[in-house]
Amino acid sequence: MDRRAFLKTGLAALASAETALTASAADEAWAAIPPRRPTGPLVGRPRTTARISKIDLFPVLYPVAGYFKFFAGPGGRTGRPAVIIKMTADDGTIGWGQSVPLSTWSDETWEGAVSALLAYFGPALIGLDPEDPAGAQAALDKAVAGGFSTGLPITRAGLDLALHDLIGKRRGISLARLWGLPEGGRLTLSWTVNVKALADAEAVIEDGKTRGYAHFNIKIGPDPDFDIALARTVRKASPQGFLWADANGGYDPETALKAAPRLADAGVAVLESPLKPNRIAGYQALKKQGALPILMDEGVVSPADLEEFIRLGMLDGIAAKPARCGGLRSNKRQIEICRERGLLWLGSGLTDPDISLAASLALYGAFGLDKPAALNGPQFLAAEVLKTPLRIENGIAHVPIGPGLGIEVDEEKVVDLMKRSGGDKLLK
Ligand SMILES: [Mg+2]
Repeated sequence: MDRRAFLKTGLAALASAETALTASAADEAWAAIPPRRPTGPLVGRPRTTARISKIDLFPVLYPVAGYFKFFAGPGGRTGRPAVIIKMTADDGTIGWGQSVPLSTWSDETWEGAVSALLAYFGPALIGLDPEDPAGAQAALDKAVAGGFSTGLPITRAGLDLALHDLIGKRRGISLARLWGLPEGGRLTLSWTVNVKALADAEAVIEDGKTRGYAHFNIKIGPDPDFDIALARTVRKASPQGFLWADANGGYDPETALKAAPRLADAGVAVLESPLKPNRIAGYQALKKQGALPILMDEGVVSPADLEEFIRLGMLDGIAAKPARCGGLRSNKRQIEICRERGLLWLGSGLTDPDISLAASLALYGAFGLDKPAALNGPQFLAAEVLKTPLRIENGIAHVPIGPGLGIEVDEEKVVDLMKRSGGDKLLK
């Protein structure tokens, strides 16, 4: 069996070895867990129903460390934009979420996210039952209509996260338990290599190795010669590591078809987002070519999008990413679809800061992700807003097991980061 055939067989085995979990089974598990009775955080509040009474926003810029092509903001601004969301229910329970728009990655901006949350999405949720996630999603759909798919998914994701946190906090259990899935565990992380010159690659790889990382994801496109040289450099420095290439839609179809077999020969295991998501025929040709498993990221927003792209024969799997999909509910369903169809799913992110990162860890941990996750917030971000930081050591992330997202947000740190960022000006 040649290397490519082995790779494909291995990936198929990986996908099929997982037990299929249907949406209905998960919903039954969810329904079977009663709201927590008056113990723990709900002491003195015996009500089992609640309404969303308040949504506070904290626009922040996380300071960044190291070069990453997506962090160039307008006017030379640097930092990773985010909107931290505090959702309060009328029983006093609080859920935290975080929207992570990035104008260099998609058409959702920091300022736009704040105004959509303030004027459209936030008001649509006030007065609703937080324990009715389908009702909340319907209200958000109505507040801002979608285009090709769900409208403003990255902005919406922060509210979905806050809803999940709120439900988990009310019941006193982790998201994994809410879903009827195993909780806790560890996830191996992947180190991102994004360089403008090949000469810089070795130092970036060495930095990752020094911090205990053994697996690497590279940012590629549009120059395949550069990309193949970069892949070879990483492969040489890490002969056994999982090497994952993401073009962020940076090739045209003809270039991608030529690049894919060369990337495979250079030791790349999967090719993510070789083309813009509207290049349907190009994706079909790449999948048919079979040089590398083709993953989609950009463009897969709702579960319906994924179903259609599978039907059209465009992909071998997805890079999961709750932030891209409108949140956990949508991305969880997409992982289930991949498992049901024997497709590959890998764990990815949008350089998620701590709150959004906790949500991704909860989701990937619950589904037992066993490939290195491209969650590079810990690599690139130099601030956090939690009372106790997420436990990440030697390239391994420990999945939080506390109620909801499993984290405690420090509101003083949030306010301080917002003021340092000038984010409070967006609320005026
Ligand atoms: Mg990607």
